[in-house]
Amino acid sequence: MSRVLRPHQVRIIERLRESLSTGHRRPMLQAPTGFGKTVVAAAIVQGALSKGKRVLFVVPALSLIDQTVRSFWAEGIRDVGVIQGNHPMTDSTRPIQVASIQTLQRRAIPRFDIVVIDEAHRWFEMLGVWMQAEEWATVPFVGLSATPWTRGLGKFYDDLVQVTTTAELIEVGYLSPFRVYAPSHPDLTGVRTVAGDYHEGDLGKAMNKPALVADVVETWLRRGENRPTFIFGVDRAHAKNLQAQFEAAGVPTGYIDAYTKPDEREVLFRRFTAGELRAIASVGCLTTGVDLDVRCIVLARPTKSEMLFVQIIGRGLRTAEGKSDCLILDHSDTHLRLGLVTDIHHDALDDGRQRQKQEAKARPEALPKKCSSCAFLKPPKVAKCPACGFKAEKQSDIQCDDGELVEMTPKRSQASTTEKELLFGQLKHFARRRNYSEGWAAHKFRELTGVWPDRYHNAPLVEPTPFILSWIKSRQIAYIKAKGSTHAHAAQ
Ligand SMILES: [Zn+2]
Repeated sequence: MSRVLRPHQVRIIERLRESLSTGHRRPMLQAPTGFGKTVVAAAIVQGALSKGKRVLFVVPALSLIDQTVRSFWAEGIRDVGVIQGNHPMTDSTRPIQVASIQTLQRRAIPRFDIVVIDEAHRWFEMLGVWMQAEEWATVPFVGLSATPWTRGLGKFYDDLVQVTTTAELIEVGYLSPFRVYAPSHPDLTGVRTVAGDYHEGDLGKAMNKPALVADVVETWLRRGENRPTFIFGVDRAHAKNLQAQFEAAGVPTGYIDAYTKPDEREVLFRRFTAGELRAIASVGCLTTGVDLDVRCIVLARPTKSEMLFVQIIGRGLRTAEGKSDCLILDHSDTHLRLGLVTDIHHDALDDGRQRQKQEAKARPEALPKKCSSCAFLKPPKVAKCPACGFKAEKQSDIQCDDGELVEMTPKRSQASTTEKELLFGQLKHFARRRNYSEGWAAHKFRELTGVWPDRYHNAPLVEPTPFILSWIKSRQIAYIKAKGSTHAHAAQ
C-alpha cells in the first residue's frame, strides 16, 4: 500500500536514481525536518524490494530500532527483520534488515545489495572503514540526514542530493512558520570551546544559575501563551533544574534524556499530548518523539553547532491543526550567533579541506536583529518590528545599535572581498606595465594573502598604492639579495 508522495519526495527519489545511474555509490540525501524522511526511506526500500534486492537499514542507536520498524510497518513494509542480540524479530531471510551501528560494529556484516544509513550526520569510525572496504565498493550506501554538515562527510559520501530547503517547506505549508524572541543574553565569558562547540561543563555552570533559570520560567509565563513547550537545557542538572522551577511555578513539566526508558518516554509523551504536561525539559536534540505537537521552544542551551541548533528548532516546526506558528524563546543568543534556521544552508558536503573550513566560518549574509522594544528577532535588514511595530528613530542611540548588527556583518565580509580584489587589480596593473605575466601577479598575491586569487581574475586594473609599490620593491630587493648571495656562494 503506497501513499501518494509529495512533489519534493518524488524529486528526491528521481535525483537519487540519477545520482546512482551516473556512477555515484555514496549519495547523501538531505531531507530537512518536515520533509517526510521516513516516507522517502520507505520508498527507497520498496523500490529495492520490487527489484528483488536486499536492503540493510542502519540506525545510529539501539533505541531507534523499534521505532524504525514501526514506521516501515506504517508504510506497509512488513517483510522486516532485525539484526540485534535476541530481538524477537530476528530473521535473516527477510529482504530488509534493520540494525544499529552498535550491533554491526561487533559482527561480520552479511552481504546486501543496498545500505541505507539513517541520521547520517552522526559519524562513527566504523562507518568509514566499512564504506571504504574493497568488497563493499560497488554496493550503494545512501545517507539520510536533515543536517549533513558533519566535518569530513565529503570524504566518504560522493554526492549531495538536495531538492528543497526549510524556508521553502515553510512557504508551501509543510512546515510551521516560527517567531523568535531573544529575551535575555547569557554571559558566556570563560566558557571554552571544544571540537567546535561550547564545553559542556563550562556551559552548564554558566547557564545553570538561579537568576537565569528564574528568568527562563518568568519569560515563559509572560510570553509562552501557555503553549505545549519543549525546553532545551545544557546538561541533565540544568534541564532537571529547569523542570523543577517550571513545576514550582505551577507548570506541569516532564523531564526526558537519553537514559529515559522507552516505556517512561511513551507515558511522558502521552501525558504531553493529552495536555496533562504543559512542557517537557530535555537535553540534546531529542531525536525521538518528534511527532509531538510542540508549539513553543525554549532554547536555554547555547550552541555553536548549526546541526544541533537546526535539529532543536526542527522539533517545533511540525504543522498541526490549529497551529499558526511556533514560538521560540531564545535565552542562548544562538539566533544572534548563527542566524535564523531558514538562513542556514550548505550546498556541498564538508570534505575537511582548509578552503571549506574558511568558507564555513563566513556567517550567513546577515543575522537577525533584536527589536529593542519587544525582544522580537527581526529578519535581517528589516527596520520596523513585525511583532510590535516599533521602529527605531534616526536620532536615537537605538538607531545606531539597530543599524550596526544587521549591516556590519555583510559589510565586513564584503570589505575583505573588495580589498582582495583591489589588491589583485593593483598587482595586475603593475605586472601589465612591466610586461610581467599575470602569473607573477598571482604569485605576489599569494605571498601577501596566503591564497591564490582564483576568484579575482576579473578584478579591474587599479593604480598601485605607495604601500603596494614599496612592498613589491622590498620583495625585489630581497630577491636580488638572495640571488646575489647564491651567486657569491657559487663563486667561492
Ligand atoms: Zn518589537
